[in-house]
Amino acid sequence: ATPTALLVGSGRAAQLGVVIKGPEVLESTRALDTMVMDKTGTVTQGRMSLDVEACREVGASASTGADAAADLAPLGDEALRLAGAVESASEHPVATAITAAARERLGDLPTPAGFSNHEGRGVSATVEEHRVAVGRPGWLTGEMGAEVPEAVRSAVEKAQDSGATAVVLAVGGTGEAANVETEAPGEAAADSTADASADAGATAPDTQPLKAMAVLVVRDTVRPSSREAVAALRELGIRPVLLTGDNTRAAEHVAAQVGIDAADVRAEVLPADKRDVIADLQAQGAVVGMVGDGVNDAAALAQAGTQGLGFAMGSGADVAIEAADITLVRTDLDAAVAAVRVSRATLRIIR
Ligand code: ADP
Ligand code: MG
Repeated sequence: ATPTALLVGSGRAAQLGVVIKGPEVLESTRALDTMVMDKTGTVTQGRMSLDVEACREVGASASTGADAAADLAPLGDEALRLAGAVESASEHPVATAITAAARERLGDLPTPAGFSNHEGRGVSATVEEHRVAVGRPGWLTGEMGAEVPEAVRSAVEKAQDSGATAVVLAVGGTGEAANVETEAPGEAAADSTADASADAGATAPDTQPLKAMAVLVVRDTVRPSSREAVAALRELGIRPVLLTGDNTRAAEHVAAQVGIDAADVRAEVLPADKRDVIADLQAQGAVVGMVGDGVNDAAALAQAGTQGLGFAMGSGADVAIEAADITLVRTDLDAAVAAVRVSRATLRIIR
């Protein structure tokens, strides 16, 4: 390959909003046969908003019984305030959606103390005297030892079936609100090595087990160009795969909207495991490109780069951009398609 032609190719790519790290990157596009796409912020806009109508709160008369759906009430101010406060310390799109809605309705929010971000799971902190956590139900009941009644679980599933991301707000019992007679010793500690055991000292925040208080439903929209980009990838002989930490139901909903097969959806993948998904596809013989935007995606982008190509959204995290071979200045999946087209066309001219 003549270096000049490759440089011309890179120049052409740049005009299309595609920044290529070096001319040699063009070469890698030839064999590319699989494109893994991060869902949030790549296939979708990544600008989530709280669907207040769909949010539900555990009512005053809530039972943990089976028919408890009727005990769910519309989201009240206190639940939104606590959730908004914890999430104000996170930059996750779910967090941004919840905090924005809380500020809009309630103005200033309390400042959380002792905030922890549990990557790909949720967040926790102390807000005023309350222990508060927001995140995936499985994480809350497992690691966090929270109590999540059946009605809350089914509300989460119902929201997920409509393609939403649904998370649960759990709050430590306080005063008369949670009439907990037992300290529930087995439940609280569970397998948690983290902050669940902050139960020392009389001035410590309440240490009663977390109880689900509300279901928060957030929605994102698919980028208008994603469907066409997926079709174009197929035409180029590239199999599209959707990768996300989000729930399977929401992921399949997005996949169906853009034309990705349900069998090619990899959902509920923890940030640390995204890279393994790429490595597994490579082990099966695929030459994998990966498009992503998040801090979470950096390792997967680098893994894709070992053999295929990593594409970062220009609007994405700096670490993602550093890890990628190609940056898509125009934040759209079709920029990735353009990158592959230009590269292949350049290579054809050269040969
Ligand atoms: P993605 O692959 O969509 O970027 P992540 O791995 O960041 O997803 O997160 C996976 C899931 O973990 C989210 O869909 C959400 O359920 C939960 N989660 C992550 N961060 C938060 C947060 N700040 N608040 C609530 N839930 C969160
Ligand atoms: Mg993302």
